[in-house]
Amino acid sequence: MTVAVEARDLWKTFPGDVHAVKGIDFRIEPGELVVLVGGSGCGKTTTLRMVAGLERISGGQVLVGDRVVNDVHPAKRGVSLVFQNFALYPHKTAFKNMAFPLESSGVPKDEIRRRVTEVAEMLELGSHLDKTPDGLSGGQQQRVSLGRAIVRDPAVLLLDEPLSNLDARLRVVMRSELKRIQRRVGSTAIYVTHDQVEAMTMGDRIVVMDAGQIAQIGTPAQVYMTPSSLYVAQTIGSPAMNLLSGRCEVTDGKLTIAGTGWSLTLSGSGAERLIARLPDGDQTVTVGIRPEDLDLVGDGPELAAGPCVTAEPLGSESLYNINIADDLCRVLKRETIVSMPEGSRAPVHLRRGARLHLFGANGARIGGAVLSEEPSVSSWIPEDDI
Ligand code: ATP
Repeated sequence: MTVAVEARDLWKTFPGDVHAVKGIDFRIEPGELVVLVGGSGCGKTTTLRMVAGLERISGGQVLVGDRVVNDVHPAKRGVSLVFQNFALYPHKTAFKNMAFPLESSGVPKDEIRRRVTEVAEMLELGSHLDKTPDGLSGGQQQRVSLGRAIVRDPAVLLLDEPLSNLDARLRVVMRSELKRIQRRVGSTAIYVTHDQVEAMTMGDRIVVMDAGQIAQIGTPAQVYMTPSSLYVAQTIGSPAMNLLSGRCEVTDGKLTIAGTGWSLTLSGSGAERLIARLPDGDQTVTVGIRPEDLDLVGDGPELAAGPCVTAEPLGSESLYNINIADDLCRVLKRETIVSMPEGSRAPVHLRRGARLHLFGANGARIGGAVLSEEPSVSSWIPEDDI
């Protein structure tokens, strides 16, 4: 059975007036995998623990299916939790670790054997069931911990940074493994991480949290392409979006935005749409451009020029840090061999099809525009029309 999970005006206040979660609302559809992501202390784990029933709710409601579970015991909510540190019993075998929740709820021995064997098969742990955790690799321990959670056939799977104790290579492997298993089991899942790559790759949708509130909820593509605020723009995307502060000036239907050491003039319907959305009064804005939307050559408009401080080959791509006034502008090129030596002066161009994000003085998104793909055409298209 798959169920929805809902938070309605959910609050958590710890002693000492620590407002960890400040009235959040979300609805997770049956079978969906939703990732809670955000910086340290933003309230991700507290939210998860309130859904699990491990943390008392200060205000609002948690619903599993159409049942309010605020006062329901954790074991009776139909949820299973997977922890960061695996939390396996060191003296029990993998089999016994996975069987434990079933034994505790009085499931007959034959049924336990059948269910553990079936889950172990799915997790490719069949030949490791007699081993204790110290005889298992990190990835295998992680799968036992996951097996223990799914053997109870939970309606809701709650995962708190389950991959952070694994090495980088295994994390990448387990990322897609976890998603595949969640799909197969069919549980609704909430996954907590501070790693935005995990959020982007695993989530059907992402909830970006900031200081106990929800900054944005959307699919990975929505959050990446149209971040609702400067905070989201900084949190999602690696290497991070370039953020340049400047001032706007409107002349003859064109929008010029300029800051120290850079300027950009936008024309076309994309510029008109942005002009219509500019706030009255303060014309201070922040322009956001992702590193992959910039280039060191090309016929797109030149944003600025400056010395190349570092050129980092990343494998299939190279990352250039160009010094503009007192800021570093990141440019990501799909090239294995660095084409611009450190120290040389480089122009920074917008790529054809580049997306520009505009944020107001309060950090909220004003809008976005996309540079025409047509060579030598400098007009911009409104983001809503793409
Ligand atoms: P991290 O990624 O570092 O785990 P998080 O987003 O999961 O962070 P939470 O652990 O939910 O954040 O903590 C949110 C806020 O609540 C933080 O300011 C934290 O210090 C505070 N907090 C968490 N647990 C308690 C507690 N038991 N008592 C008092 N304050 C707490």
